[in-house]
Amino acid sequence: MTEQAQQEYDVAGYSDRGRVRTSNEDAFGLCLDAGIFVVCDGMGGAAAGEVASHVAVDVMLERLCGGAANEDESDLESSQHKQSLLRDAVAAANGKVFSQAEEDAQLHGMGTTLVALLVVGNRAWVAHVGDSRCYRWRQGTLERFTEDHSLVDEQVRLGQLTPEEAERSPLRNVITRAVGSQRSVTPEIEELQVEPGDLFLLCSDGLTREVRDEQLVALMSEVDELEAGCQALVAAAIMNGGRDNVTCVLVRAK
Ligand code: CA
Repeated sequence: MTEQAQQEYDVAGYSDRGRVRTSNEDAFGLCLDAGIFVVCDGMGGAAAGEVASHVAVDVMLERLCGGAANEDESDLESSQHKQSLLRDAVAAANGKVFSQAEEDAQLHGMGTTLVALLVVGNRAWVAHVGDSRCYRWRQGTLERFTEDHSLVDEQVRLGQLTPEEAERSPLRNVITRAVGSQRSVTPEIEELQVEPGDLFLLCSDGLTREVRDEQLVALMSEVDELEAGCQALVAAAIMNGGRDNVTCVLVRAK
């Protein structure tokens, strides 16, 4: 890999329980050395949701923060290797959340969404389960790389609901895939090319339910310092209602 192809990254994350919830069931983890960043949004009741999201983040970092994911190879084999590392880490997170839920009656039925970004040089991989999302801001354009694993989003994709109907649906909280609620789970994984200046956003639905696309574009266009950028995104969600926990992670390619 040439010098120019090497990227360096900055990262920041911020989470808030919002205005209504008494606990924060979201969790995030950042490992800049290995280029692995994770956001999870737990479910199953306050205590259980908190456990699920934190366990999933911890397992992802345990698995991927050791540097194994960050070997610098550029061939196809290496891409498959990265994808299998991500798949294995999600499987491990799923197994741990699932077994804890089985062992402890109070945690029964818990699960969590998961969105993870792995960056190596000028390439990135996004893995997700559930409705936490990954966006990329590049030269004035905001692009989303994750399709929600939610009942209403699947109905929108099948043409059975309009996006407006989906937003109003009483079933909009129903997730069709979650980490830890079944014995196994299949994440969706996508590979991306990274350009200098690319700004990635990982977030829980507490952001995207409250902040509409136009406002999200405006906020992303204003991001300078990442810590302040995360706080501005979270503050907008809280200003708009803050009905759920809100979590943002921003990752920028220098
Ligand atoms: Ca949520």
